[in-house]
Amino acid sequence: RFVSLEGGEGAGKTTVLHALRVALQEAGAEVVNTREPGGTPLAEMIRGLLLDPSHEPPAAETELLLMFAARAQHVRETILPALERGAWVISDRFTDSSYAYQGGGRGLDAGFIAELERRVVGLQPGLTLLLDVDVARGRERTRGRDLAAGANGPDRIERERDEFFERVRAAYRARAAAEPRRFRVIDASQPAQAVADEAVAQLRAWRES
Ligand code: C5P
Ligand code: MG
Repeated sequence: RFVSLEGGEGAGKTTVLHALRVALQEAGAEVVNTREPGGTPLAEMIRGLLLDPSHEPPAAETELLLMFAARAQHVRETILPALERGAWVISDRFTDSSYAYQGGGRGLDAGFIAELERRVVGLQPGLTLLLDVDVARGRERTRGRDLAAGANGPDRIERERDEFFERVRAAYRARAAAEPRRFRVIDASQPAQAVADEAVAQLRAWRES
């Protein structure tokens, strides 16, 4: 009952998150929508530190450890209690984001990330929906988000080069290919509503399987 949503910038995660929640609630389930980095008060503070535009971007290692610090709290304070009472949990990003951004994007060792995952996370989603969109289209969709982002500061897409996002995308696709039972890849270049419809259909199919 633990589902994660992954993908690059501008893939449409927010719309999908909402559609999945509505679909599950219509089926009578309790649904907890949450996000990373974040999902608890402390983890949201760590998110604020990570995304604060008033300082230089953190070193890759700092970023990785703060992501896992936030995730450790998120798992213990939000995700596990919800799963234990029988709720569905839908997380906007989870550990796959660290493999994609800190691993693929920033070049940190995947073995080290796996060790952190094993020691501090200890659980995986049953289903991970990867919203896959090419970098140029994702960038186009997030244009102007800077101004709307407010306290979250400029979206990362404004600071990183295309090559960074190409590496992120490649890492995501490689993970999806390596774990076909957990991942479903959705073509997120489609209009938002079509992406959301497909995500809901994939979730239904997975529940019935
Ligand atoms: O999902 P959302 O776009 O809100 O993520 C906020 C920012 O954090 C994004 O710019 C994303 O690239 C970045 N991020 C990251 N590493 C993660 C998770 C998110 O660099 N593990
Ligand atoms: Mg974003």
